Amino acid sequence: MNTLLIKNISLKNRIVDVLIEGNVFKQIEPNIKAGKVDKIIDGTNRAIIQPFYNMHTHSSMTLLRGYGDDMRLFQWLSEYIWPQEAKLTPEDIYNGTRLAIVEMIRSGTVFFLDMYWHHSEIIRAVEEMKIRASIGVSFIEERGKREIEQNIKFINGFVSPLERISINVAPHAIYTVGKDLYQELYMISKVKGLKLSTHLAETMQEVKSCKKANNNLTPTEFLESIGVLDDNTIAAHCVHLTEHDAEILSSKGVTLVHNPCANMKLASGSFNVPLINKYDLKVCLGTDGTSSNNNLSMLEEMKFAALLAKVSYKDSSLLSANQVFAWATKNGADAMGINSGRIKEGRLADCLIVNLNNERLIPNNNLISNWVYSADSRCIETVICDGNILMENHIIPNEEEILEKVKRKIM
Ligand SMILES: [Zn+2]
Repeated sequence: MNTLLIKNISLKNRIVDVLIEGNVFKQIEPNIKAGKVDKIIDGTNRAIIQPFYNMHTHSSMTLLRGYGDDMRLFQWLSEYIWPQEAKLTPEDIYNGTRLAIVEMIRSGTVFFLDMYWHHSEIIRAVEEMKIRASIGVSFIEERGKREIEQNIKFINGFVSPLERISINVAPHAIYTVGKDLYQELYMISKVKGLKLSTHLAETMQEVKSCKKANNNLTPTEFLESIGVLDDNTIAAHCVHLTEHDAEILSSKGVTLVHNPCANMKLASGSFNVPLINKYDLKVCLGTDGTSSNNNLSMLEEMKFAALLAKVSYKDSSLLSANQVFAWATKNGADAMGINSGRIKEGRLADCLIVNLNNERLIPNNNLISNWVYSADSRCIETVICDGNILMENHIIPNEEEILEKVKRKIM
């Protein structure tokens, strides 16, 4: 079993050594006498911090970055995104996912929950680049019966190649998937023990159309009425919620994923943090795809989340740095049932080594405050996921080759 010792590193303002054995934090205390280890990293003037779990993205949309900005959601989807997506080949998806993973690693993310097409290519990229992921097998009824059948067959036959890779069942949204298919997919997710991820209540338009078509039920009420919400559900966006919606989401134990950048860029609205807090809802953070963000930085996502909440509800005490940091880190790991998200003995070894000499982290009055409001990706030197080093001293293996493959413009 491989052993890695990080010496003299700051963990919550205490200088410790961190011994990783295999994929687990074996020992965390000052001056560990470890005997012979495979590798030692000097942690002097550095801090160890939990990495990010990006709970909603469409990874290979990196290929559509900067394509079709500054327009209304429906026009953007129907005239720009969907026609381009239809042209993407499996090889494009593989290369786009590798670009996304480079970006995620460099900005401190070790897990992403994905929702896209050509899932086998995404799994291939994830497997090679040693990151964690749950790959959404996506469903949109308009794409035809054949694809739906193939996807269901894929889910039923799926055996994960590695513990860090899983799949989830991903009906896209209530306006692209009807009641019967939602219910069928829900049952499949139950039988297979998989998460069900979906977009929910992203725009006012979605709420209006849902109410019109379903006896005045909101999207959340509608999903409850057809029996597909429970503590296995991961619902992205949840921007437009009523008090009754919040009650439902709380009683069912649904996990919400906040995507502030995409919500702002597409003018979808503000996540209702006062309501979320009132009902103590389970919340994680996600970037959404790069064509509505336009990057995959969870550092930026934390800051935008905090600032958006404060300005939307005219309360600068709303959504503290500590709260949004928990949304971006341990809440994601907990929602996925991954035994990580904390730097603790016995937990899976996911962590970042950040450089406390970076100007954005000086002075170090409060690391979490600096991390949320001041830091950028340059502060991150080394990224460890499941005991593997994904980036060491800013170097990601094969990065140049990966970037070279996707420099060609698509338009
Ligand atoms: Zn999305």
